[in-house]
Amino acid sequence: MKITDIRATPVTVPLEAPLRHANGCHWGRFVRTIVEVETDEGLVGLGEMGGGGESAVAAFEGLKPYLLGRDPARLEEMRFLIANPTASLYNNRTQILAALEFACLDLLGQKWGVPVCDILGGRLRDEVPFASYLFFRYANAVDGSGEVRTPDQLVAQALALKAQYGFRTHKLKGGVFPPAYELECYRALAEALSGDSFRFDPNGVWSAEQAIWFGQRIEDLDNDYLEDPVYGLAGMRRAREKVRMPLATNTVVVGFEQLATNVLQTAADVILLDTTFWGGIRPCVKAAAICETFQLGVAVHSSGELGIQLATMLHLGAVIPNLVFAADAHYHHVLDDVIEGGKLPYCHGSIAVPTAPGLGVKLDRGRLAEYHELFLRLGQYPYDQDPLRPGWAPLIPNQRWADPTDERTPAIPR
Ligand SMILES: [Mg+2]
Repeated sequence: MKITDIRATPVTVPLEAPLRHANGCHWGRFVRTIVEVETDEGLVGLGEMGGGGESAVAAFEGLKPYLLGRDPARLEEMRFLIANPTASLYNNRTQILAALEFACLDLLGQKWGVPVCDILGGRLRDEVPFASYLFFRYANAVDGSGEVRTPDQLVAQALALKAQYGFRTHKLKGGVFPPAYELECYRALAEALSGDSFRFDPNGVWSAEQAIWFGQRIEDLDNDYLEDPVYGLAGMRRAREKVRMPLATNTVVVGFEQLATNVLQTAADVILLDTTFWGGIRPCVKAAAICETFQLGVAVHSSGELGIQLATMLHLGAVIPNLVFAADAHYHHVLDDVIEGGKLPYCHGSIAVPTAPGLGVKLDRGRLAEYHELFLRLGQYPYDQDPLRPGWAPLIPNQRWADPTDERTPAIPR
């Protein structure tokens, strides 16, 4: 089999409401790039990458001279061809490599008649449990719904998600408001959903002292872990000495060099594996094996996804033995998908691992066209800006918190 064409299509899919985070906001939509790799046998493999626009399209277009005529089975060859570690100092293509790896694995699964998880060692589970991923949210500018700013709104959102999807693990994305206010919110959540487990992630914007202060005040709760309370391996190590719960990261251990450092001088107990950040599903499987050897925990990280990326997370979750935590996904916040049949369904807080050959999802051409049109109409959004605070940027450690009494709704075009 030989690669004959590569296509990248940026799409915009609406979210229920804008999602606030430590670095800014998802402005009521996700922008993703859908990648199609075509072969001389008529098969099309699917990949997905965060962000999009002309630069993403050009980046994939620019790799055609490297990849056309190549065998999609030669995945290690492709890694050195387009993401050689030294050459990557000049031109980092890790996320592009990931999208292409997804597509090539999809092709191989289709050709061989097996789901991707069977190429990766075979499934150990048929479904992957997910956490409710809770965000502070601005209200939807169209109908004013969906705001999450107060402890009461947060608890209501968590209870509604649990009732709708069956989640028994709840993750709160913080780093938006002052730590004492977010502590109040997190404790209200844990009290209202007693019996479930919890995790908190301020995206590394606290000082080590703030991380210790917060961590010590939640030690009595049923925490899976405290995720990236401070930025950097050294800060994480300092917090870990003083806080009696596992620390997790998707920020400072996102490659094998950092994983080696973390094994030698442990800063994070749980490594959150992201199929995009690590450059594909296979590097995540390798990293999970190293974590298994050194008795570090793993979980599946979400960098925002539609169904293709979600399928990579499901196949990863299916094959790693040491997945003892629920996976994260933003997926329940998106209103639709670009795959046939629409969004993959949750059942009792889990999503079934696809069983069809390849990734097990197919593009819905109508939806792809519709959401490409929406991308062309709305364009990019600044992920690292807050729509109500023009020109704002957080410090690390941050002191420029949002005001929890600010009730305004940003007028974001839909
Ligand atoms: Mg995180």
